[in-house]
Amino acid sequence: MLSVRIIVLFLSLSSVLLAQGTVNRKVAVTMDDLPLQRIEKFSTEKLYGITAKIIEKIKLVNAPVVGFVNGVKLQTEGKYDESKIDLLKMWLNAGLTLGNHTYAHKSANAVPVKEYEEDILKGEAVLKETVENGGAELIYFRHPYLQTGRSLEVKNEIDNFLKDHNYIIVPVTIDNSEWIFASAYDKAVDSNSTGMMKKIGDEYLRYMKAKLDYWESQSNALFGRNINHILLIHANTLNSEYYDQLCGIIKDSGYKFISVDEALSDPAYKSEDNFKGAGGISWIHRWAITQKKGKEFFGNEPVAPDFIMKYAGVESE
Ligand SMILES: [Zn+2]
Repeated sequence: MLSVRIIVLFLSLSSVLLAQGTVNRKVAVTMDDLPLQRIEKFSTEKLYGITAKIIEKIKLVNAPVVGFVNGVKLQTEGKYDESKIDLLKMWLNAGLTLGNHTYAHKSANAVPVKEYEEDILKGEAVLKETVENGGAELIYFRHPYLQTGRSLEVKNEIDNFLKDHNYIIVPVTIDNSEWIFASAYDKAVDSNSTGMMKKIGDEYLRYMKAKLDYWESQSNALFGRNINHILLIHANTLNSEYYDQLCGIIKDSGYKFISVDEALSDPAYKSEDNFKGAGGISWIHRWAITQKKGKEFFGNEPVAPDFIMKYAGVESE
């Protein structure tokens, strides 16, 4: 009797393991707002230190990362600043990939198309040369705020402009409000509140795990399978401390880290996208809106805890 039970247990365990083995769990990591969020508040010395820490953690995790740069952040008082360009060289020397996130982080929803396109080109100014001197190519583009225009005409015009300039648009599937935690974390650092820093860090990891699970279930609901994901986070102090732990949680959830190119090779990214709403949202929801999914499809998205939003001075996500 006992041996039958053991055999049954063994069989059910192996079928669970087998089932887990067939689930696709792959994610590419992208970091926006390089060289660093809130760059203006840090001394040159601090900037080197935080950047070195982020890169050290990225190397520890050993997964490819594409960092998206805002040209304006390479300037001090309106002039390109070698010490800030050096931060990009640190990324390139570490073998990481850099992309264009426009010069001034303007929204495609808020400025005329021509102004937006000029901002894309202005974003290339020093970035392209720096990337090419590092033996790489500038080919990836990320829309600021993930906003792509309030009409299909605007969206298509920008899409075509990017294509004409040999850019590959990098969408986001695992969208989240990590930036709120990062803003709160910088405040906690400023007020030397190690207790608050730890609390924010712990909440950040819990929240990101909930988001990862949420987008996996949204992908399953829309595609009937878990697509290759693209995660968005930002270059900031929070990730200089927590990036490795965040990736540990992602790994423990069964995910393998892949390149942006591998992520984009998933046919899901060829899905029709007619979204022209105001939000900067996950491409999974853009595709779902295009497919006219009902309200019930979009429920239960995890949100940042109230105390984090209050501490960061953010009204709502
Ligand atoms: Zn951004």
